[in-house]
Amino acid sequence: MIVYDLRCAKGHVFEGWFPDSMAFDKQVKRKHLVCPACGSTKVDKAMMAPNIASSKRKSPAAAEAPAAPTVPDAAADMTAPPAGLERAKRETAKYVKFLRTMREQVEKNCDYVGEKFANEARKIHYGETGKRNIYGEASPDEARALKDEGVEFGAIPWIKRGDS
Ligand SMILES: [Zn+2]
Repeated sequence: MIVYDLRCAKGHVFEGWFPDSMAFDKQVKRKHLVCPACGSTKVDKAMMAPNIASSKRKSPAAAEAPAAPTVPDAAADMTAPPAGLERAKRETAKYVKFLRTMREQVEKNCDYVGEKFANEARKIHYGETGKRNIYGEASPDEARALKDEGVEFGAIPWIKRGDS
């Protein structure tokens, strides 16, 4: 790893980490180097500071997230975490939580009718029984038939509760 002190056309100085000096040249040519302060791609080396990654740099931030100023590139720093991954994890966690809440709501407010769901839903739809909220299982065929008859229902991903 090589650390360069970089300077943009407007004089902002920032750090760039590269596998080697060739990688730096390549990224400058492709305008992949962007000033984090102003977004300028007119970036040049302010001063060369060859270094073995993080050995002498005390700043933990610099050691853990070194590739900030560069656009992800196969030739660029490989130690930076893929930016999309953490976001995807967060989104998934949010979705799981949402499904869990939905399950709790359904269980609290609806009667479980199991595999008789299609029949019960039909009875309610045609007014054979009083209106009530139910939940249960329906096969894909049953679900299709209900839909054809105009019976309103929703299918939700039934997520395990708790920590499993
Ligand atoms: Zn700048």
